[in-house]
Amino acid sequence: MKKFVTLLLALVIALSLAACGGGKDGLTVEEGKLHMSTNAEFPPYEMVTNDGGFEGIDVEIAGLIAGKLGLELVVDDMGFTAALEAVQNGKSDIAMAGITVDEDRLVNMDFTDTYATGIQVIVVPEGSAAIDSVDDLESAALIGTQEGTTGYKYCSDTPENGGYGEDHVVAYETGAMAIQALLAGKVDCVVIDNQPAQEYVKANPGLKILDTEFAVEDYAIAVKKGNSQLLDEVNKALGELIADGSVQRVVDKYIKAD
Ligand code: GLN
Repeated sequence: MKKFVTLLLALVIALSLAACGGGKDGLTVEEGKLHMSTNAEFPPYEMVTNDGGFEGIDVEIAGLIAGKLGLELVVDDMGFTAALEAVQNGKSDIAMAGITVDEDRLVNMDFTDTYATGIQVIVVPEGSAAIDSVDDLESAALIGTQEGTTGYKYCSDTPENGGYGEDHVVAYETGAMAIQALLAGKVDCVVIDNQPAQEYVKANPGLKILDTEFAVEDYAIAVKKGNSQLLDEVNKALGELIADGSVQRVVDKYIKAD
């Protein structure tokens, strides 16, 4: 009897180890699931619904990719920097958060093909006379940004590299907090991605987006550096979804043409 119990115990341990060891062929962090780390405060790419679920362009595209891979999508909501780290550390399978393909990031993670274009824009109070174009940023006393974003990186860079220096930039935890700081007069402008900027300006009267673009970027899905099997699978699924118009349908659902 004792021997049987020991055997049974060994079997249970072996089975649970197998379950912890990753998904099918070790492809994903959890068996049968595709974990997407994100920062669900970036409308219309990812946001929290009234009942605590998640929606947005990235969430839906990730759901379609998971479906093609025969996996169930799990959205893990966290800070923006944490969402990038999760994929680097193997805590999530993919990161999607309107993430710009950036050479610094490419050192630590791999990216799929791009699925959307992002534009960094400048948000100012409607009556702002001081800032009318990108050229005026130099004189801007304080620029609000979201921490860990390309907007923060460009603005806080040294003047020799086209930035304005760290002293001229405030990094907030979220884009929404940067916008609140602008409304409260704590910063003179906010540099942020165009689509969330549109949503924030719609929701907060008294703000406007300058016509001049600050930077044009590519959004892509991040995966752990060197996980070429997962990268290939996700890229293949994404490519099919772009080719058959599914990605465009999702974008059109959330971004209405003016
Ligand atoms: N596209 C920007 C970046 O990748 C901002 C993304 C975000 O704030 N979610 O840095």
